[in-house]
Amino acid sequence: MYFDYAATHPMRPVAIEAWTQAAAALNPNSVYASGRRARSILDDARETISRLLGCEPIEVIFTASGTEANNLAVQGLYQAAVRSGFPRRIVTTPIEHSAVLETARALEKHAGAELSWLPITASGHVDASLAVAELERPAAVAACMWANNETGALQPVAEMAAAASEAGTPFHVDAVQVVGKLPVDFAALGATTLAASAHKFGGPRGAGILLARRTPTPAPVLLGGGQERGIRPGTVDVAGAAATATALQEACSEMQEVEARVAGLRDELLRGILATIEDVRVNTSDPALPGHLNVSFPGTDGDSLLMLADAAGIEVSTGSACHAGVNRMSHVLEAMGVPADKGRGTLRFTLGGATTAEEIAAVLHELPRIVATARSV
Ligand code: PLP
Repeated sequence: MYFDYAATHPMRPVAIEAWTQAAAALNPNSVYASGRRARSILDDARETISRLLGCEPIEVIFTASGTEANNLAVQGLYQAAVRSGFPRRIVTTPIEHSAVLETARALEKHAGAELSWLPITASGHVDASLAVAELERPAAVAACMWANNETGALQPVAEMAAAASEAGTPFHVDAVQVVGKLPVDFAALGATTLAASAHKFGGPRGAGILLARRTPTPAPVLLGGGQERGIRPGTVDVAGAAATATALQEACSEMQEVEARVAGLRDELLRGILATIEDVRVNTSDPALPGHLNVSFPGTDGDSLLMLADAAGIEVSTGSACHAGVNRMSHVLEAMGVPADKGRGTLRFTLGGATTAEEIAAVLHELPRIVATARSV
């Protein structure tokens, strides 16, 4: 029973087919016939993605992961802005994925950045009015995730993009958890850059997308042959791009139906947990992604819950990160003000298109015993 779709989505058969078909493609930058054939597959993929995500084809940059897309945007926008005289300030949130968090911290350590952290409410959301106020003062870059990967909480990125734009601050959105699950219109959003990851919506692992407006362009972080507008040099993986576009097309076409069903199953899971287990803390609050449910069971720890769930055939993840063998609460729950003794035993269930009512019933059958056992050790 797979409940870890937010970690990675099984590759869609249509994407495997597209991948296989394009696997023999050669260098899309070569001018001879085989190069032009590869180029045409790549152009089609770029065109499809731009149509589905509301941007121009030239704004689609193929990367090797969501992590890479986030790094190229945050580092690149920061360096470009500082070079053109912007203050060395980065506005971001303490609940970002480490791809953004560690990049911002590295810029603080090695490139003189001053970090302004936006506070997080108890429900796991950025307070929109505080964010807008903070964004009145220009910064080299501001970055906020659209949906949090642990809780699923949706953030006020449209309001933030408008405020950042007003101050002339480049704004990056980590949309890795949103693309393929909710409609995305990059032009309407008004962000400068947006990161996505193919394996989160049924494309291949090791393939990412950075949407980057024509200006301001992130300064290159990787130096090389100038492919992908010089933002991500290196010979592009044509098969990966084709499979990404095909997966996104299918994800978008079934989005409405799948997400409505997934939300129903998630609500059923939550109702069942609350009805059968005492002392539960629910960390997912609306507005949130339809398939996310993050719950803490005080008196347990994440590792015990995970191992007991795995033994029962339930594949789920814990919000807590294990630091040097110490089971610590996640940085996201910490930022929400969850006390450590309440949040150490947390499970994140993420549902997808193949999740069934029978699987939910099976989890609800097993979970009370799993939590009771974890509480007794
Ligand atoms: N950003 C968010 C919000 C994520 O959830 C993830 C993956 O878990 C990433 C970035 C990194 O994506 P990738 O695995 O493609 O590097």
